[in-house]
Amino acid sequence: MVPGIVSLAKRPLSERSRSTPESWRRSLADAIRDPNQLLSRLGLAADETRSPKLSQQFPLLVPESFLKRMRSGDINDPLLRQVLPIAEEDAEVAGFTIDALDEATFRKAPGLLHKYEGRALLVLTGACAVHCRYCFRRHYPYSQEPKRLDDWEPAFAALEQDESIHEVLLSGGDPLMLTDERLTTVVRRLESIPHLRRLRWHTRLPIVLPDRVTLEWLDLLTSTRLTSIVVVHANHPHELVADCALALRQLTQSGVMTLNQAVLLRGVNDSAETLVGLSERLIDLGIKPYYLHQLDRVAGTAHFEVPEETGLRLMAELRQRLPGYAVPQYVREVPGEAFKVPLVERSQLIAD
Ligand SMILES: *Cc1c(COP(=O)(O)O)cnc(C)c1O
Ligand code: SF4
Repeated sequence: MVPGIVSLAKRPLSERSRSTPESWRRSLADAIRDPNQLLSRLGLAADETRSPKLSQQFPLLVPESFLKRMRSGDINDPLLRQVLPIAEEDAEVAGFTIDALDEATFRKAPGLLHKYEGRALLVLTGACAVHCRYCFRRHYPYSQEPKRLDDWEPAFAALEQDESIHEVLLSGGDPLMLTDERLTTVVRRLESIPHLRRLRWHTRLPIVLPDRVTLEWLDLLTSTRLTSIVVVHANHPHELVADCALALRQLTQSGVMTLNQAVLLRGVNDSAETLVGLSERLIDLGIKPYYLHQLDRVAGTAHFEVPEETGLRLMAELRQRLPGYAVPQYVREVPGEAFKVPLVERSQLIAD
């Protein structure tokens, strides 16, 4: 047996104080909702010009834990930039639309998106613990999706009828906004569908609200007959410290395959230094960098866009500086394509 595993089995899970349903719900209730309060906590001047109109439907939301990882006094802090509404969001830019991914077309039942072979996605909730300003689902019509557990039955029935589906993605919003009790009910229902083999959780809560990594959730991940895969979402190495790093360790030490997806964002992670740092930090925590997404062209997010040629140049540098397993796939979602389209440096293709 690997020595690390022996010592791990014996180590109590209490290096981080045990998080309970009460603690994460309290952290969520205490999250910051007022931009001026956020700025003042960081020693920055309140600025009235910073409230874009669009932010009324998608207001600021930042948990305390994420705030603690921002640098004081720096308006350009990469974590702050991800969550602070700024006037640029109101700019109307050609090509940036409300449903950039044409998701409405792939809705097979309320709350069920089926775009790719073998995999289907359940939009379990519209709620999130953080509001990322670049969010591609910021205009998603969540109010039309099921609310009570019974309302999910048509989606479960559709999954039951389609034997080509082997993997269900739990998404949102953030699926971990549901209580462990509720998630257990969903997982038990999915387990009863014989052709399902894998359950993939797409969540940013372990990053922004680390309290949410409860023992109950970890038990659920490891006790189901379905193979669990967790895809977290961090964009910058500064996110992967302190309570977040401890929560991620608990997750990876539970033996669940854990991946990360990031979005390439101007002013946040559009440098080779930052992306290398992100990958190294992830690998050190036992997490495999999965996707680096080209920004989806959603209204209100144009100021985050990094040109594809810049992304390709960054990728070429990542390949030089990192082991192959630490290089994410740089992809773009193209409506109608059968997979997320890899963006690959042309020079490499020619060299092959
Ligand atoms: C991104 C996505 C998936 C998963 O794609 P992978 O390439 O398997 O990560 C599945 N369904 C939908 C609707 C998606 O948007
Ligand atoms: S956590 Fe994900 S779904 Fe929620 S606001 Fe951020 S990008 Fe959007």
